Amino acid sequence: MILDQEIKAQLDQYLQLMENDVLLKVCVGSDDVSKDMLALVNELASMSPKITVEEASLPRTPSFSVNRVGEDTGVTFAGVPLGHEFTSLVLALLQVSGRAPKIEESVVQQIRNIDGEYHFETYVSLSCNICPDVVQALNAMSVLNPRITHTMIDGGAFRNEIEDKDIMAVPTVYLNGEFFSSGRVTIEEILAKLGSAPDASQLADRDPYDVLVIGGGPAGASAAIYAARKGIRTGIVAERFGGQVLDTLGIENFISVKYTEGPTFVSHLEEHVKHYGIDILKAQRAKRLEKKDLIEVELENGAVLKSKTLIISTGARWRNIGVPGEAEFKNKGVAYCPHCDGPLYQGKDVAVIGGGNSGIEAAIDLAGIVRHVTVLEFMPELKADAVLQKRLYSLPNVTVLTNVETKEITGTDKVDGITYADRATGEVHHIELQGVFVQIGLVPNTDWLEGAVERNRVGEIIVDKRGATSVPGVFAAGDCTDSPYKQIVIALGSGANAALGAFDYLIRN
Ligand SMILES: Cc1cc2nc3c(=O)[nH]c(=O)nc-3n(C[C@H](O)[C@H](O)[C@H](O)COP(=O)(O)OP(=O)(O)OC[C@H]3O[C@@H](n4cnc5c(N)ncnc54)[C@H](O)[C@@H]3O)c2cc1C
Repeated sequence: MILDQEIKAQLDQYLQLMENDVLLKVCVGSDDVSKDMLALVNELASMSPKITVEEASLPRTPSFSVNRVGEDTGVTFAGVPLGHEFTSLVLALLQVSGRAPKIEESVVQQIRNIDGEYHFETYVSLSCNICPDVVQALNAMSVLNPRITHTMIDGGAFRNEIEDKDIMAVPTVYLNGEFFSSGRVTIEEILAKLGSAPDASQLADRDPYDVLVIGGGPAGASAAIYAARKGIRTGIVAERFGGQVLDTLGIENFISVKYTEGPTFVSHLEEHVKHYGIDILKAQRAKRLEKKDLIEVELENGAVLKSKTLIISTGARWRNIGVPGEAEFKNKGVAYCPHCDGPLYQGKDVAVIGGGNSGIEAAIDLAGIVRHVTVLEFMPELKADAVLQKRLYSLPNVTVLTNVETKEITGTDKVDGITYADRATGEVHHIELQGVFVQIGLVPNTDWLEGAVERNRVGEIIVDKRGATSVPGVFAAGDCTDSPYKQIVIALGSGANAALGAFDYLIRN
């Protein structure tokens, strides 16, 4: 039995939701992964009379495709989709059986209207928590459009492909044999990359908003909900709805919920926002802000949105170390997400730059997978909590270097080492390794506001206690502001605060 009792009980309930018969075409060999895969598909078939299994020849061994009876849907899993990908398998079964994917109707139409043949392949690791979003987006696209196919490939089971293609970050997507994307991509972003995004003319006729929110993380979502609940016209523009929470695995400090995971939290957030008739513009990036009679925000596609008030909640992103080699070897040995990319460095030597909580957590996490971890901290001491440091120093395969400055990440076509200087002696050293995880904090996403609102030395938007910025009618909330602490509950609270501030401004002006 490959599934435990608890999972089987949950699965049983999902399988009851299947609408029509599904045929699993299976291609197996005599290796252990094939045996596990066969055990899994047979177990699925034993649990539902709607699932049948048939041996077939497929491009990869082991793999299986999930099909309607009499019609190939193009959804294939190469390797055993357990771990984080198990949900992708369950959703594929339901959607191929006829249950509609939870996608807005306008997006469904965009997918159905795509012309041409698109064969996607996504390399994942089963411990990557962001990979399922990409797999599920592409599976849903395959289910909706017969000209689109998608294969999930477990990098652990197809190491030769990972090595041949030099894949050092997951999820990595190939389209028609060519590199397409690396990291999280939403359906809207995939559509935009395929040239199927709404253009400026489609957004040009939007009436002005009372409150326009830029950013769809916790702060933006909270601001939009608070504004919309006042009964005023509210819009939200988000490059990537969910923000940093999408990259978060476990959340244990969202008060009143003992444990949740980032993607679950985001789907609840989105459901809540949608409940209020808020105009949601996803996969759209704001690039310029100007205060005229109304506040105008220009998007990257050229559209200009107008609003009486604005709430900026564009959050933050990983800070780059900015040394030679970092940009060149991004996804070729330079990584930012240890949960996602750690498994690709199994048995290799890596460095973690940064001795704060996130750096030390990353080092502890990686030490369980890789051969050796070197931690490089610029300051004379690590800054992480004592409990994390104690755990780190108890590990046999970790070296900690403090008071060192990273000078260069070296390599030819991928990372082969790191060069650093000892800040006390000035001596320069080089370590040979295959991966560098940069964990030196975050930088606010406020570059697009250059000259438009007042920001502090590190680029954070300066706000007062009502969330107001230096520009009347423009408010800000969350990690993009000069609030000293950056957390989900704080971002939610500051979004609410800014929305109430904006409402107050509207009734006085
Ligand atoms: C790995 C990780 C783990 C974490 N774990 C926790 C935890 O366990 N508990 C906790 O409380 N906090 C945690 N945090 C911090 C928490 O995620 C943040 O404090 C919170 O997400 C901030 O919310 P925000 O809405 O201000 O910004 P973000 O979440 O950064 O959202 C910003 C939004 O703005 C959009 N955006 C950016 N620029 C533009 C633009 N120009 N135009 C349009 N849209 C734009 C983004 O796409 C996104 O939708 C974690 C953070 C990380 C990175």
